[in-house]
Amino acid sequence: MTHAQQGWLPSGVDEERMTLYVSSQLVACGICFFAGVHAMLAGSSGGREPANMAFGCLSVLLAGYLALTASIYQTDTVALAQSLIRCQLAVACAIYPAAVWFIGLYAGLLRWRSWLALAGAVFGALLIIDLFSPGGVIYDTVVKGHAIVLPWGERVPDYVGVRSRWFGVYFLAKDAIYVWAIGCCVALWRRGSRERAWPFTLYLLVQGAAAIHSDVINRDGEPTVTYEALAFLALVLLMGDRLRRDLQHRTEALARNLDDLCTETLRRQNVEADLRHLAYHDQLTGLPNRLHLYEHLHEQLASATFPDSALVMFDLDHFRTINEALGHDAGDLLLKAVTGRMLAAVPADSLLARHGGDEFALLFMLPADLPPSESAHRIVREITHRLVAPFGIGAHDLAIGVSAGIALLPGMAGDVDSALRQATVALHRAKAGGRNAAIVFESTMQAEADRRLLLEKGLRVALERNEFELHYQPQLDRYDRFVGAEALLRWRHPEHGLIAPGEFIPIAEESGLIHAIGIEVMRRACMERESWPAACADARISINVSPWQLFSPDFVRTVHDAVGTTHADPRRITIEITENALLHDLEDVAYKMRELATLGFHFSLDDFGSGYASLGNLKKLPLHELKIDRVFVEGLQPDTRDPFTESIIAIAHEQHLHVVAEGVETNPQREALAALGCDAIQGFLISRPLPAAEFHRWLERQLAQQCVASD
Ligand code: C2E
Ligand code: MG
Ligand code: MG
Repeated sequence: MTHAQQGWLPSGVDEERMTLYVSSQLVACGICFFAGVHAMLAGSSGGREPANMAFGCLSVLLAGYLALTASIYQTDTVALAQSLIRCQLAVACAIYPAAVWFIGLYAGLLRWRSWLALAGAVFGALLIIDLFSPGGVIYDTVVKGHAIVLPWGERVPDYVGVRSRWFGVYFLAKDAIYVWAIGCCVALWRRGSRERAWPFTLYLLVQGAAAIHSDVINRDGEPTVTYEALAFLALVLLMGDRLRRDLQHRTEALARNLDDLCTETLRRQNVEADLRHLAYHDQLTGLPNRLHLYEHLHEQLASATFPDSALVMFDLDHFRTINEALGHDAGDLLLKAVTGRMLAAVPADSLLARHGGDEFALLFMLPADLPPSESAHRIVREITHRLVAPFGIGAHDLAIGVSAGIALLPGMAGDVDSALRQATVALHRAKAGGRNAAIVFESTMQAEADRRLLLEKGLRVALERNEFELHYQPQLDRYDRFVGAEALLRWRHPEHGLIAPGEFIPIAEESGLIHAIGIEVMRRACMERESWPAACADARISINVSPWQLFSPDFVRTVHDAVGTTHADPRRITIEITENALLHDLEDVAYKMRELATLGFHFSLDDFGSGYASLGNLKKLPLHELKIDRVFVEGLQPDTRDPFTESIIAIAHEQHLHVVAEGVETNPQREALAALGCDAIQGFLISRPLPAAEFHRWLERQLAQQCVASD
């Protein structure tokens, strides 16, 4: 370096202006500047890589330094040259702390701030000296020297200076930083950060070579230019490459994040679709659920082009019985099987939904070829027809009936609620009318539906308010002797008067109130039996029991308790069960009946012939009596044969069953039954069901007559 003897800086030569050397300085300046700005921008985005920001500052400062260097080689005034040299060294005093800042961060030093503070303090002091001393930090005075001749022949103007007393301090601080940078590089290698250590090592080698060139090779030679500032270009290029790779990594990470985001969005969309499906579909059958039906119906009713349609509510007859008797798994299987068959039968473009429990709703467009009511009936028939064949559920073959309520739309239904209410009202009517039927809603049914709602509400308090009463209908044997009476429940409603059981028992069964009502009936009937005169010691009281009571696991205990508290004799009590109670878990029913039969209770099969019980089942049950349903009695005439009734009585007798005919209203019926060998009769011919007091008076008269007859 020429400054080792006379000064560090070039001397001016007038004749050579823009040399290759100066151009290279300017090119390097441009590269540093743009690389610096680039790095600063990269460092400022999100502040994630502060080393980039430090590097950017360093590069921009160096660009300034190179620009000043080029300017010095271009100037031929000593005064200007001296000012430029002072400026150049001022920039150099900022460059070294910036280098410490960058290297500290780049090498990942924990205490880089302390190093920066130290470098800042030293070079800050040198900067002050540079700005305020007469010649600058390294020269006291600057003079024009001989031009430097470069190896390729170019002549570069040169300025030489007389060293100041801070000259040594400045170069010592500069070299100290170089040594410190080597220490940082070693630390990088030791930490295993090869990716960072490599470019930094290369740079230090280049910078070291430039320093050796300046300090050693040029020590005693001709004055020449130095390449230390240009060596920094190596760092710029290496760092530029690092920055590029850094950006590439970020871009890749961004692409990965984008991929993850897309996957996540897709997953969310799937989850949302699943949730929507769950919200609008029934899990068991996969059918649209009630909510789906409501929304769809709402849309349809709101649309101006809603075509003539039908909303049908289907309800499986006795489904609850199956569920209770065979368990919910069997119930679920049945519902699935029913869904499958219904789906195969419903018209295209219709909406079949599970409305809840065993209720299905179907909305379909009515074909125009028939009147609406007829078309609806035809389609409903096609569907119910599919459900006739028994369903094989586990070991059971279940035959189910289906009731359907049809609402014709838009009709009188302006909104979803009224449409559903109409279909439900029609459904209730279908069920009340013997089930397994389809009925279209008519405006007259609304009053009935309102009444049902009223009864539903009233039933809950009827028991507490003691609004139930028992009536008794006597039974006579074929010699007109009183053999027993059937207890028949009535509800004396405060507003609607006496209500028949056919109307409120189904509601009580649906609400579960039948159990409490059943216990009360049992208790009162037992007390009534206890009050009968001794003359009818063998007469029996018959008590109706709903299948729901029979399916209850507590049935045996409940009956036993009711009888126990009234001290009634179980041998004088007949429990009437209906055929529907035998449809399902026959084993369970038979077991309970046997338990009670051993206590002395008798069992009667009520309404025989109206239900689905097979004669084969009769053998499996401890029955004592068979009650022939009223419909078989209605048509009986003494002179005409009725093979069906005849055979029922014959088979019953063969099984040693006592036969009672219900609903006997005329003497010819009575005679015909006597001729067929029927053991006892019950019906309006003898007496209507009577309140307790009236029944007692009837009984007194009857017993008196019997006495007269026997005398
Ligand atoms: P059920 O056990 O078959 O009772 C006979 C029904 O036939 C009674 O109707 C009775 O009034 C009616 N009846 C009797 N003789 C004649 C007649 O000659 N002609 C006509 N047309 N009808 C006659 P009711 O009292 O309305 O009872 C209807 C059904 O309600 C009963 O049929 C029974 O299944 C049920 N039921 C009545 N009381 C109770 C009860 O306390 N518990 C349960 N679970 N069901 C009951
Ligand atoms: Mg009965
Ligand atoms: Mg009956």
